[in-house]
Amino acid sequence: MKKVLLICMALIMSLSVLVAGCGGGSEKKADQKASSTEKVLRIGTNADFAPFEFQDVDGKNYEGFDMDLIRAVAKEMGYKADIQNINFDGLIPAMESGNLDVIISGMTINDERKQKVEFSDPYYKSGLSIVVKKDNNDIKKFTDLKGKKVAVQIGTTSAKEVHKIEGVEVKELNSSADTFMELKAGGVDAVVNDRPVNDTYIKTTGGADVKALDELLTSEDYGIAMSKKNPELVKSVNAALKKLHENGEYDKIFTKWFGAAPKK
Ligand code: GLN
Repeated sequence: MKKVLLICMALIMSLSVLVAGCGGGSEKKADQKASSTEKVLRIGTNADFAPFEFQDVDGKNYEGFDMDLIRAVAKEMGYKADIQNINFDGLIPAMESGNLDVIISGMTINDERKQKVEFSDPYYKSGLSIVVKKDNNDIKKFTDLKGKKVAVQIGTTSAKEVHKIEGVEVKELNSSADTFMELKAGGVDAVVNDRPVNDTYIKTTGGADVKALDELLTSEDYGIAMSKKNPELVKSVNAALKKLHENGEYDKIFTKWFGAAPKK
């Protein structure tokens, strides 16, 4: 009996040496469950932008259209998805310092960002809209924001566009959630955000005291941002996106979050 026990112990020890020997490298540390051969895609997002990225009620999981899409892209490429939650204006700097492989965060493809990062093919069409209090009758369109106080999220296309309006007082806040809070608290007359985010806010909060206006300012394409130093990654991400369009997975994820299939 003693002998059997000894043999068992020796077996367990040699097995654990074997397992430890296979590991090493930072990828293993990112997730202990990851097998030694699994490659990890370090994904940056600002998880305060429903329906694209947000945390579930207990804050354990990242959910939303972007989150499902990037997990599908990573899977297609044979990578394990490692999602990190970072302030929106800190995402590109985090990539520039080498801490992220990709950014997916409802990020609009524009020339200013293209100087710093490379974008994937566009994956979602968006634009900006206004939210005001329900009893506000003097703001009906973007030009009515002239001379008004408007909350936007810092570092976004909303911030850029609203600054162009003459005599507007812009409050730049950390997240879209903060902009809605500011409106409810009466600190601003209006909020400008990406339209799907405004619509989701109204839907999830019941829209008792606020309303979204119909006018859409700008037409924007979202893209997945990557380092300019990694053209191979850009190619693989685009190939994965193409595959997901072809095999119906993209449409499935789209319908899950937006209720209907994308317009072709
Ligand atoms: N689409 C907007 C932009 O790229 C807002 C993105 C965001 O707040 N996550 O600036």
